[in-house]
Amino acid sequence: MYETIISKVNEESLNKAREYILNGELVGFPTETVYGLGAIAYSDEAVKKIFEAKGRPQDNPLIVHVHKDYDVDKLVYVDYDYVYKLREAFLPGPLTMVYRSKGMISPVATCGLDTVGIRIPSSEAAQRFLRAVNVPVAAPSANVSKHTSPVTAMHVYEDLKGKIPLILDGGKCTGGIESTVLDVTTDTPIILRSGLVTADMIKSVVGKCGYSQNKPTDKIRAPGMKYRHYCPKCETALFKRNQVALAQKLYDEVKAKGQRPYFMCDDAMLSEIHGNVLRLGSTAEEIASNLYDKLHESEGLADMLIAFEVETGSDVDVGIMNRLSKACKKYE
Ligand code: AMP
Ligand code: MG
Repeated sequence: MYETIISKVNEESLNKAREYILNGELVGFPTETVYGLGAIAYSDEAVKKIFEAKGRPQDNPLIVHVHKDYDVDKLVYVDYDYVYKLREAFLPGPLTMVYRSKGMISPVATCGLDTVGIRIPSSEAAQRFLRAVNVPVAAPSANVSKHTSPVTAMHVYEDLKGKIPLILDGGKCTGGIESTVLDVTTDTPIILRSGLVTADMIKSVVGKCGYSQNKPTDKIRAPGMKYRHYCPKCETALFKRNQVALAQKLYDEVKAKGQRPYFMCDDAMLSEIHGNVLRLGSTAEEIASNLYDKLHESEGLADMLIAFEVETGSDVDVGIMNRLSKACKKYE
Protein backbone atom coordinates (compact mmCIF):
# COMPACT_ATOMS: atom_id res chain seq x y z
CA MET A 1 0.00 0.00 0.00
CA TYR A 2 1.17 3.51 -0.78
CA GLU A 3 0.12 6.79 0.66
CA THR A 4 -0.93 8.34 -2.65
CA ILE A 5 0.16 11.98 -2.96
CA ILE A 6 -1.49 14.40 -5.41
CA SER A 7 0.87 17.22 -6.34
CA LYS A 8 0.73 20.15 -8.76
CA VAL A 9 3.31 19.98 -11.53
CA ASN A 10 6.38 21.85 -10.22
CA GLU A 11 10.09 21.28 -9.95
CA GLU A 12 9.82 19.37 -6.69
CA SER A 13 7.04 17.02 -7.83
CA LEU A 14 8.78 16.46 -11.18
CA ASN A 15 11.95 15.44 -9.34
CA LYS A 16 9.92 12.99 -7.28
CA ALA A 17 8.20 11.69 -10.41
CA ARG A 18 11.58 11.18 -12.05
CA GLU A 19 12.86 9.24 -9.06
CA TYR A 20 9.77 7.03 -8.93
CA ILE A 21 9.80 6.29 -12.67
CA LEU A 22 13.52 5.49 -12.75
CA ASN A 23 13.04 3.21 -9.72
CA GLY A 24 10.34 1.23 -11.51
CA GLU A 25 7.37 2.79 -9.66
CA LEU A 26 4.14 4.13 -11.20
CA VAL A 27 3.16 7.79 -11.58
CA GLY A 28 -0.19 9.25 -12.65
CA PHE A 29 0.27 12.18 -15.05
CA PRO A 30 -1.93 14.53 -17.09
CA THR A 31 -2.02 14.72 -20.88
CA GLU A 32 -4.28 16.71 -23.23
CA THR A 33 -6.56 13.65 -23.65
CA VAL A 34 -6.91 11.76 -20.33
CA TYR A 35 -4.64 11.07 -17.32
CA GLY A 36 -2.03 8.35 -17.89
CA LEU A 37 -0.59 5.76 -15.50
CA GLY A 38 3.10 5.67 -16.38
CA ALA A 39 5.99 3.26 -15.88
CA ILE A 40 9.45 3.08 -17.42
CA ALA A 41 8.82 1.27 -20.70
CA TYR A 42 12.11 -0.68 -20.71
CA SER A 43 11.32 -2.59 -17.51
CA ASP A 44 9.15 -5.72 -17.46
CA GLU A 45 8.73 -5.46 -13.69
CA ALA A 46 7.68 -1.81 -13.76
CA VAL A 47 5.22 -2.32 -16.62
CA LYS A 48 3.69 -5.36 -14.90
CA LYS A 49 2.71 -3.07 -12.04
CA ILE A 50 0.47 -1.11 -14.43
CA PHE A 51 -1.52 -4.21 -15.38
CA GLU A 52 -1.81 -5.13 -11.67
CA ALA A 53 -2.89 -1.67 -10.51
CA LYS A 54 -5.54 -1.40 -13.24
CA GLY A 55 -6.64 -5.05 -13.38
CA ARG A 56 -6.02 -4.70 -17.11
CA PRO A 57 -6.33 -7.74 -19.42
CA GLN A 58 -2.87 -9.05 -20.32
CA ASP A 59 -3.50 -8.91 -24.07
CA ASN A 60 -4.15 -5.17 -24.26
CA PRO A 61 -0.87 -3.40 -25.13
CA LEU A 62 0.20 -0.06 -23.70
CA ILE A 63 1.12 3.09 -25.56
CA VAL A 64 4.64 4.47 -25.07
CA HIS A 65 4.94 8.20 -24.39
CA VAL A 66 7.97 10.40 -25.11
CA HIS A 67 8.71 14.14 -25.09
CA LYS A 68 8.77 16.08 -28.33
CA ASP A 69 12.55 16.17 -28.76
CA TYR A 70 12.99 12.46 -28.09
CA ASP A 71 14.45 10.50 -31.01
CA VAL A 72 11.53 8.13 -31.68
CA ASP A 73 13.47 6.39 -34.42
CA LYS A 74 15.71 4.82 -31.77
CA LEU A 75 12.67 2.74 -30.80
CA VAL A 76 10.92 2.02 -34.10
CA TYR A 77 11.27 1.51 -37.85
CA VAL A 78 9.61 4.03 -40.17
CA ASP A 79 8.36 2.00 -43.13
CA TYR A 80 6.55 4.71 -45.09
CA ASP A 81 7.41 8.34 -45.83
CA TYR A 82 3.87 9.50 -45.06
CA VAL A 83 4.82 9.04 -41.39
CA TYR A 84 7.04 12.12 -41.58
CA LYS A 85 4.14 14.16 -42.98
CA LEU A 86 1.86 12.96 -40.18
CA ARG A 87 4.45 13.86 -37.56
CA GLU A 88 4.80 17.32 -39.09
CA ALA A 89 1.03 17.85 -39.22
CA PHE A 90 -0.18 16.39 -35.91
CA LEU A 91 2.66 15.94 -33.39
CA PRO A 92 2.86 16.71 -30.57
CA GLY A 93 -0.85 15.89 -30.24
CA PRO A 94 -3.52 13.22 -29.73
CA LEU A 95 -2.24 10.81 -32.39
CA THR A 96 -0.55 7.52 -31.48
CA MET A 97 1.28 5.81 -34.33
CA VAL A 98 1.83 2.05 -34.24
CA TYR A 99 5.23 1.19 -35.79
CA ARG A 100 7.36 -1.93 -36.10
CA SER A 101 9.34 -2.08 -32.89
CA LYS A 102 13.12 -2.30 -32.69
CA GLY A 103 12.59 -4.44 -29.59
CA MET A 104 13.78 -2.04 -26.90
CA ILE A 105 10.38 -1.65 -25.27
CA SER A 106 9.36 -4.30 -22.73
CA PRO A 107 7.32 -7.14 -24.26
CA VAL A 108 5.02 -6.77 -21.27
CA ALA A 109 4.06 -3.32 -22.63
CA THR A 110 3.61 -4.50 -26.23
CA CYS A 111 1.98 -7.79 -25.14
CA GLY A 112 4.54 -9.62 -27.23
CA LEU A 113 3.51 -7.87 -30.47
CA ASP A 114 6.27 -6.87 -32.89
CA THR A 115 4.73 -3.39 -33.04
CA VAL A 116 4.63 -0.53 -30.58
CA GLY A 117 2.38 2.54 -30.30
CA ILE A 118 4.24 5.81 -29.71
CA ARG A 119 2.60 9.02 -28.57
CA ILE A 120 3.96 12.53 -28.10
CA PRO A 121 1.37 14.38 -26.01
CA SER A 122 1.00 18.11 -26.54
CA SER A 123 0.00 19.28 -23.07
CA GLU A 124 2.68 21.29 -21.32
CA ALA A 125 2.36 19.25 -18.12
CA ALA A 126 2.87 15.98 -20.01
CA GLN A 127 5.86 17.43 -21.84
CA ARG A 128 7.42 18.61 -18.58
CA PHE A 129 6.94 15.19 -16.98
CA LEU A 130 8.34 13.29 -19.99
CA ARG A 131 11.28 15.65 -20.27
CA ALA A 132 12.03 15.28 -16.56
CA VAL A 133 12.15 11.47 -16.77
CA ASN A 134 13.72 11.45 -20.26
CA VAL A 135 12.90 7.76 -20.82
CA PRO A 136 10.01 6.23 -22.77
CA VAL A 137 6.99 5.89 -20.48
CA ALA A 138 4.45 3.11 -21.06
CA ALA A 139 1.04 4.39 -20.04
CA PRO A 140 -2.61 3.46 -20.43
CA SER A 141 -5.36 5.62 -18.98
CA ALA A 142 -5.05 5.92 -15.19
CA ASN A 143 -8.30 4.18 -14.23
CA VAL A 144 -9.29 0.76 -13.00
CA SER A 145 -9.86 -1.37 -16.11
CA LYS A 146 -13.33 -0.88 -17.69
CA HIS A 147 -14.13 2.21 -15.58
CA THR A 148 -14.56 5.68 -17.11
CA SER A 149 -11.23 7.25 -18.10
CA PRO A 150 -9.93 9.97 -15.74
CA VAL A 151 -9.84 13.61 -16.81
CA THR A 152 -8.90 15.09 -13.40
CA ALA A 153 -6.33 14.12 -10.75
CA MET A 154 -9.21 13.33 -8.36
CA HIS A 155 -10.62 10.79 -10.85
CA VAL A 156 -7.22 9.06 -10.78
CA TYR A 157 -7.12 9.22 -6.99
CA GLU A 158 -10.57 7.68 -6.62
CA ASP A 159 -9.56 4.65 -8.73
CA LEU A 160 -5.93 4.16 -7.72
CA LYS A 161 -5.46 5.52 -4.19
CA GLY A 162 -3.16 3.25 -2.18
CA LYS A 163 -1.89 1.57 -5.36
CA ILE A 164 0.53 4.26 -6.60
CA PRO A 165 2.80 6.77 -4.83
CA LEU A 166 2.22 9.94 -6.89
CA ILE A 167 -0.31 11.69 -9.10
CA LEU A 168 0.80 14.85 -10.91
CA ASP A 169 -2.10 17.28 -11.02
CA GLY A 170 -2.30 19.30 -14.25
CA GLY A 171 -5.97 20.30 -13.95
CA LYS A 172 -8.74 19.05 -16.21
CA CYS A 173 -7.76 17.48 -19.53
CA THR A 174 -9.03 19.49 -22.48
CA GLY A 175 -9.31 16.83 -25.21
CA GLY A 176 -11.36 14.42 -23.20
CA ILE A 177 -11.13 11.23 -25.27
CA GLU A 178 -8.05 9.09 -25.82
CA SER A 179 -5.69 9.57 -28.75
CA THR A 180 -6.38 8.26 -32.22
CA VAL A 181 -4.39 5.02 -32.66
CA LEU A 182 -3.08 4.71 -36.23
CA ASP A 183 -1.28 1.70 -37.70
CA VAL A 184 1.54 3.04 -39.91
CA THR A 185 3.05 -0.35 -40.80
CA THR A 186 1.06 -0.63 -44.03
CA ASP A 187 0.94 1.31 -47.29
CA THR A 188 -2.39 2.85 -46.23
CA PRO A 189 -2.50 4.10 -42.62
CA ILE A 190 -5.27 2.35 -40.69
CA ILE A 191 -7.21 3.79 -37.74
CA LEU A 192 -7.28 1.19 -34.94
CA ARG A 193 -9.02 3.48 -32.45
CA SER A 194 -10.84 6.71 -33.34
CA GLY A 195 -10.04 9.97 -31.59
CA LEU A 196 -9.65 13.69 -32.15
CA VAL A 197 -7.34 13.28 -35.15
CA THR A 198 -9.92 11.99 -37.61
CA ALA A 199 -9.78 9.95 -40.81
CA ASP A 200 -10.55 13.11 -42.83
CA MET A 201 -7.62 14.93 -41.21
CA ILE A 202 -5.28 12.03 -41.96
CA LYS A 203 -6.56 11.79 -45.55
CA SER A 204 -5.90 15.50 -46.04
CA VAL A 205 -2.22 14.85 -45.30
CA VAL A 206 -1.58 11.34 -46.65
CA GLY A 207 -4.30 11.14 -49.32
CA LYS A 208 -5.66 7.88 -47.87
CA CYS A 209 -6.71 6.36 -44.57
CA GLY A 210 -8.58 3.20 -43.61
CA TYR A 211 -10.47 1.89 -40.58
CA SER A 212 -9.67 -1.48 -39.06
CA GLN A 213 -12.58 -3.85 -39.05
CA ASN A 214 -11.92 -5.27 -35.58
CA LYS A 215 -14.00 -8.37 -36.24
CA PRO A 216 -14.04 -10.68 -33.20
CA THR A 217 -11.95 -13.21 -35.14
CA ASP A 218 -9.26 -10.73 -36.26
CA LYS A 219 -5.75 -11.00 -34.93
CA ILE A 220 -5.75 -8.43 -32.19
CA ARG A 221 -4.45 -5.12 -33.52
CA ALA A 222 -5.99 -2.70 -31.03
CA PRO A 223 -7.26 -5.01 -28.31
CA GLY A 224 -8.74 -2.17 -26.27
CA MET A 225 -11.52 -2.03 -28.83
CA LYS A 226 -13.01 -5.38 -27.99
CA TYR A 227 -13.89 -4.95 -24.32
CA ARG A 228 -16.77 -3.23 -22.56
CA HIS A 229 -15.04 -0.11 -21.36
CA TYR A 230 -15.39 3.40 -19.94
CA CYS A 231 -18.37 2.40 -17.75
CA PRO A 232 -19.68 4.67 -14.97
CA LYS A 233 -20.70 2.98 -11.69
CA CYS A 234 -24.43 3.40 -12.19
CA GLU A 235 -27.03 1.72 -14.38
CA THR A 236 -26.99 3.00 -17.95
CA ALA A 237 -29.21 2.94 -21.02
CA LEU A 238 -28.21 4.27 -24.43
CA PHE A 239 -30.94 5.42 -26.79
CA LYS A 240 -30.98 6.37 -30.45
CA ARG A 241 -31.98 9.94 -31.22
CA ASN A 242 -35.34 8.81 -32.59
CA GLN A 243 -36.24 6.96 -29.36
CA VAL A 244 -37.11 10.04 -27.31
CA ALA A 245 -40.55 8.76 -26.21
CA LEU A 246 -39.07 5.46 -25.04
CA ALA A 247 -36.27 7.22 -23.15
CA GLN A 248 -38.71 9.62 -21.49
CA LYS A 249 -40.86 6.64 -20.46
CA LEU A 250 -37.86 4.99 -18.81
CA TYR A 251 -36.97 8.26 -17.05
CA ASP A 252 -40.49 8.62 -15.68
CA GLU A 253 -40.61 4.98 -14.55
CA VAL A 254 -37.29 5.19 -12.70
CA LYS A 255 -38.44 8.40 -11.01
CA ALA A 256 -41.79 6.85 -10.02
CA LYS A 257 -39.86 4.09 -8.25
CA GLY A 258 -38.21 6.73 -6.05
CA GLN A 259 -34.84 6.40 -7.82
CA ARG A 260 -32.77 9.10 -9.50
CA PRO A 261 -32.73 9.14 -13.32
CA TYR A 262 -30.53 11.54 -15.30
CA PHE A 263 -30.41 12.22 -19.01
CA MET A 264 -27.09 12.80 -20.77
CA CYS A 265 -27.17 14.28 -24.26
CA ASP A 266 -25.86 16.91 -26.63
CA ASP A 267 -27.55 20.31 -26.70
CA ALA A 268 -29.58 19.61 -29.83
CA MET A 269 -31.63 17.06 -27.85
CA LEU A 270 -32.34 19.33 -24.86
CA SER A 271 -35.69 20.67 -26.02
CA GLU A 272 -37.04 17.15 -26.56
CA ILE A 273 -36.67 15.76 -23.03
CA HIS A 274 -38.06 16.65 -19.61
CA GLY A 275 -36.06 16.08 -16.44
CA ASN A 276 -32.56 16.37 -15.02
CA VAL A 277 -29.84 16.51 -17.65
CA LEU A 278 -26.06 16.25 -17.85
CA ARG A 279 -25.30 18.46 -20.87
CA LEU A 280 -22.49 17.37 -23.16
CA GLY A 281 -22.43 20.59 -25.23
CA SER A 282 -23.02 21.28 -28.91
CA THR A 283 -19.83 20.90 -30.96
CA ALA A 284 -18.11 17.54 -31.31
CA GLU A 285 -14.94 18.91 -29.69
CA GLU A 286 -16.93 20.25 -26.74
CA ILE A 287 -18.79 16.94 -26.37
CA ALA A 288 -15.55 14.91 -26.51
CA SER A 289 -14.01 17.15 -23.87
CA ASN A 290 -17.04 16.79 -21.54
CA LEU A 291 -17.85 13.11 -22.06
CA TYR A 292 -15.77 11.43 -19.34
CA ASP A 293 -16.30 14.28 -16.89
CA LYS A 294 -20.08 13.89 -17.25
CA LEU A 295 -19.86 10.09 -16.97
CA HIS A 296 -17.93 10.55 -13.72
CA GLU A 297 -20.44 13.13 -12.53
CA SER A 298 -23.33 10.74 -13.23
CA GLU A 299 -21.94 8.29 -10.66
CA GLY A 300 -22.73 10.57 -7.74
CA LEU A 301 -26.03 11.85 -9.12
CA ALA A 302 -27.86 9.08 -10.87
CA ASP A 303 -29.15 5.57 -10.26
CA MET A 304 -29.92 5.35 -13.98
CA LEU A 305 -28.08 7.33 -16.65
CA ILE A 306 -30.20 7.67 -19.79
CA ALA A 307 -27.90 8.67 -22.64
CA PHE A 308 -28.59 9.58 -26.26
CA GLU A 309 -26.36 8.82 -29.20
CA VAL A 310 -24.35 11.86 -30.27
CA GLU A 311 -24.62 13.23 -33.80
CA THR A 312 -23.08 16.54 -34.74
CA GLY A 313 -22.07 15.76 -38.32
CA SER A 314 -18.36 15.98 -37.44
CA ASP A 315 -15.91 13.16 -38.10
CA VAL A 316 -15.11 13.29 -34.36
CA ASP A 317 -18.55 11.69 -33.71
CA VAL A 318 -16.96 8.32 -34.59
CA GLY A 319 -14.56 8.54 -31.63
CA ILE A 320 -17.25 9.83 -29.28
CA MET A 321 -19.69 7.06 -30.22
CA ASN A 322 -16.95 4.44 -29.93
CA ARG A 323 -16.62 5.41 -26.23
CA LEU A 324 -20.28 6.08 -25.48
CA SER A 325 -21.50 2.79 -26.94
CA LYS A 326 -19.05 0.88 -24.74
CA ALA A 327 -19.76 2.98 -21.63
CA CYS A 328 -23.55 2.61 -21.74
CA LYS A 329 -25.71 -0.45 -22.30
CA LYS A 330 -27.80 -0.22 -25.42
CA TYR A 331 -31.49 -0.03 -24.45
CA GLU A 332 -33.36 -3.16 -25.49
P1 AMP B 1 -5.41 2.84 -23.34
O1 AMP B 1 -4.11 2.44 -22.77
O2 AMP B 1 -6.56 2.43 -22.50
O3 AMP B 1 -5.44 4.25 -23.81
O4 AMP B 1 -5.49 1.97 -24.65
C1 AMP B 1 -4.40 1.93 -25.54
C2 AMP B 1 -4.89 1.54 -26.90
O5 AMP B 1 -3.82 1.48 -27.83
C3 AMP B 1 -5.53 0.18 -26.86
O6 AMP B 1 -6.69 0.20 -27.65
C4 AMP B 1 -4.44 -0.68 -27.45
O7 AMP B 1 -4.99 -1.82 -27.98
C5 AMP B 1 -3.80 0.23 -28.48
N1 AMP B 1 -2.42 -0.17 -28.76
C6 AMP B 1 -1.33 0.06 -28.01
N2 AMP B 1 -0.23 -0.50 -28.56
C7 AMP B 1 -0.62 -1.12 -29.68
C8 AMP B 1 0.03 -1.91 -30.69
N3 AMP B 1 1.31 -2.19 -30.65
N4 AMP B 1 -0.72 -2.37 -31.69
C9 AMP B 1 -2.02 -2.10 -31.73
N5 AMP B 1 -2.70 -1.39 -30.83
C10 AMP B 1 -2.03 -0.89 -29.81
MG1 MG C 1 -8.06 3.15 -21.13
